[in-house]
Amino acid sequence: MNYPRSYIILHHTGAEEKDAQQVRKNHLSRGWRDVGYNYIIERDGTVVKGRSLELPGAHCAASGMNHKSVGIALIGNFEVRSPTEQQIKALISLLKKLKKELNFPEKNILPHKNVPGAKTLCPGKNFPFSRLLESLKGTERLWKVQCGAFSSRKKAEEFAEKLKKMGISCFVVEP
Ligand SMILES: [Zn+2]
Repeated sequence: MNYPRSYIILHHTGAEEKDAQQVRKNHLSRGWRDVGYNYIIERDGTVVKGRSLELPGAHCAASGMNHKSVGIALIGNFEVRSPTEQQIKALISLLKKLKKELNFPEKNILPHKNVPGAKTLCPGKNFPFSRLLESLKGTERLWKVQCGAFSSRKKAEEFAEKLKKMGISCFVVEP
């Protein structure tokens, strides 16, 4: 069974595990089917896939989120420290990718502690949630200048070349 996922829940693991493999091991040792999160982001920004989206998650029981959200956890305890730059960058690009695939509204991206009914500090007071939202918005609010549309790629590239010679930076966009 596939669960429609229209929310993203953001977590820290709350511990300083070595890597995603260790997070998975800890969860398996509790008798779980797999690690509870759908994605885990390691300190160096490596994104590791966790539990399959074909199963309900095991990361946020509040508000029935295990059945309607994608759970992303960054390794670390962000009550104590901040996530690494690599973790934040990786999270931003993962969110952009998921937003394209799942098409959820931005207000459905929630830190775990903001989920109604959740009693937790997760993902910690140093989790840069507002910065995250800003970066996501940044890409959505670009004003673009359209200055040509062609029925062949070759013509489009010729036109782009002309603009470049004029000192205007531009690129060809796939139809
Ligand atoms: Zn959490």
